[in-house]
Parts: sequence; structure tokens; C-alpha cells
Amino acid sequence: MSDPDCIFCKILAGELPATIVDEDELTIAFMDIAPATRGHALVIPRAHSRDVFEAGPEDLQATILAAQRLARRVRERLGADGVNLLNSAGAAAWQTVFHLHIHVIPRYRDDPLRLPWVPSAGDPEEIAAAAQELAGG
Ligand code: AMP
Ligand code: ZN
Repeated sequence: MSDPDCIFCKILAGELPATIVDEDELTIAFMDIAPATRGHALVIPRAHSRDVFEAGPEDLQATILAAQRLARRVRERLGADGVNLLNSAGAAAWQTVFHLHIHVIPRYRDDPLRLPWVPSAGDPEEIAAAAQELAGG
């Protein structure tokens, strides 16, 4: 349920400060200390799980629904023009805190945020080959 070495569990336990902006039975949301844009917040399940690979369905469902709630709120209250919901699973995917979280990143039409990923046209054969491996149960 809780990991004594996890900073987000410490926030949940009240042992580390955080600016909590939303909570329900299964989740809390708090402001990111290094915001990508104005209003950047994180939604986490109360129960510790490392990432999206490990989390149970109830926590996953509650976390994405809480992210949706907050996404709507940043649009309504902060005037965001859009929102990026971002989840990183594993260090190779930029995860740095190993307690499942969804970033709710408000986006403003003119904001300068650019993720390190710069999309460019893919190789159709490679895309098709990957799709073949992914498709089906
Ligand atoms: P990730 O790199 O996807 O694991 O995201 C971790 C996020 O947690 C980063 O955006 C950090 O800025 C944020 N973060 C780390 N420590 C804290 C903290 N004590 N309070 C709020 N946000 C934090
Ligand atoms: Zn934790």
C-alpha cells in the first residue's frame, strides 16, 4: 500500500509538503514543483504502485478519471487551450519518481513548451512490422 522510501507516499502521509488541489477516496492531485507550464499538476493513486505496468485496475481507473476532472478544471479555471496528460513508465521513458502518476499539463496556445520528442515522418515498413507484432491478443 505504501513504500517508506517513496516521496509521493511521504506526501500522502503528510511527511513532505505538497500543494494538494484535489482528492478523492483513491487519489490525490498536487502541484508539480517543477512545472512545465502554469498549473502543471500530478495525479496519483493513494496506494503505492510503481507504474502503469504494476497498478491495479481500480487505481488506474480512479487515477485517469481524476486526471480528467483536473484537466477539465484547468481548462475552465486557468483558461488553458488544451491539456497534455503524460505518464512515464520506466526510467527509459523518463520516469523519475516511481509511484504511478499522471501529469496534467495545461497547454496555452502560445506556450513555448516542446517535449524532447520531435515528430518526423516514420518509415512505413517499420511501422507496419511493429503493428504486426502488436496486433491481436
Ligand atoms: P516523472 O519524471 O514522470 O517521474 O515525474 C516526476 C515529477 O515529479 C516531476 O515533474 C517532478 O518535478 C515532480 N516532483 C518531484 N518531487 C516532487 C515533490 N516533492 N512535489 C511535487 N512534485 C514533485
Ligand atoms: Zn509511493
